[in-house]
Amino acid sequence: MRERGSPADVDEILKQAVSGERITEGQALALLTGAPLHALGETAHRLRLRKADPKIVTYVIDRNINYTNICIARCAFCAFSRDADDPDAYVNNYQPVIRDKIMQAAKLGATQILMQGGLHPTLQFEWYLNLLRAIKRDFPQVTLHSFSPPEVVHFSKLFKMSISDVLSALREAGLDSLPGGGAEILSDRVRRELSPRKCTADEWIEVMRQAHRLGMRTTATMMFGSIETPAERVEHLQRLRTLQDETGGFTAFICWAYQPANTPLGGHASGGVDYLRTLATARIYLDNIANFQASWVTMGAKVGQLALVFGANDLGGTMLEENVVAAAGAHYEMSVAEMEYLIRDAGFTPRQRTTQYELLG
Ligand code: SF4
Repeated sequence: MRERGSPADVDEILKQAVSGERITEGQALALLTGAPLHALGETAHRLRLRKADPKIVTYVIDRNINYTNICIARCAFCAFSRDADDPDAYVNNYQPVIRDKIMQAAKLGATQILMQGGLHPTLQFEWYLNLLRAIKRDFPQVTLHSFSPPEVVHFSKLFKMSISDVLSALREAGLDSLPGGGAEILSDRVRRELSPRKCTADEWIEVMRQAHRLGMRTTATMMFGSIETPAERVEHLQRLRTLQDETGGFTAFICWAYQPANTPLGGHASGGVDYLRTLATARIYLDNIANFQASWVTMGAKVGQLALVFGANDLGGTMLEENVVAAAGAHYEMSVAEMEYLIRDAGFTPRQRTTQYELLG
């Protein structure tokens, strides 16, 4: 991937970033494709120490719940989705499946439920609203960090409502914040090839803009390493930085590598070096997002731990029951004790946090 940026250029760009001056998209591309890994990581880590508490690394106790795997989009990189008539297609209702899963998670101290699903063709809007209401009634202590932008756009089209009206109704029923899933790469060329039936880059951004306007905080994500070019990775980062300048609503940035097993697209997974380069470049370029999560779910615990010195200040969630990347071959689980061990071993103090990055305990 190293094709641009002389050593002198790269050195100047890194100095510029350390001085607090914003870097351009062209400079981000030069770093992504040409900076020595150790210099990139060192600069990202210096900026991370400034932007988030230098002594601590945070984590959240959460559970993933996928309410359905039936999806009309059938993206080329997805090993999780099914057609409605596939033998292993499912819809989980609140009683008893989802309620039991949340009860188990609550017993383990979960503060966040990350609920997402496929784009189901026939479930009615009341089904989703009733689900949120029931969870909030029975588990008022958990934060519902659920429904990513492709689901919101799907609801908007299926139920003929504006994005803002969909979000307001979900919020009134109990939704607290939105995960940034379904962004993959915010470039129309990539989306046309990988996921033509899913929301466009503009629609993804618009859902986040409307959510932020309604006072909801959200995360921003990027799945890289499928068919995009380095310039398209930077285009993605540019769209996030521009929206964050406008709204300030992103709490965190999370990137992870495409997992090819069992997907129609196939191919190879990016290695740890590509992951660390991408994470560090994002930390340097996205100067307006405070928190960066290490993606141990796809990269494994050891690369996840290394990410803590390449720009990340948070180890994400315990992810009890992760189904989506597990379907694509990445099987990692972590207990709170393991997370705390990895954080201490990297030289930081572990602290549990809320979805909104407030410290607990
Ligand atoms: S990535 Fe999401 S939208 Fe695409 S097929 Fe899988 S579940 Fe559906």
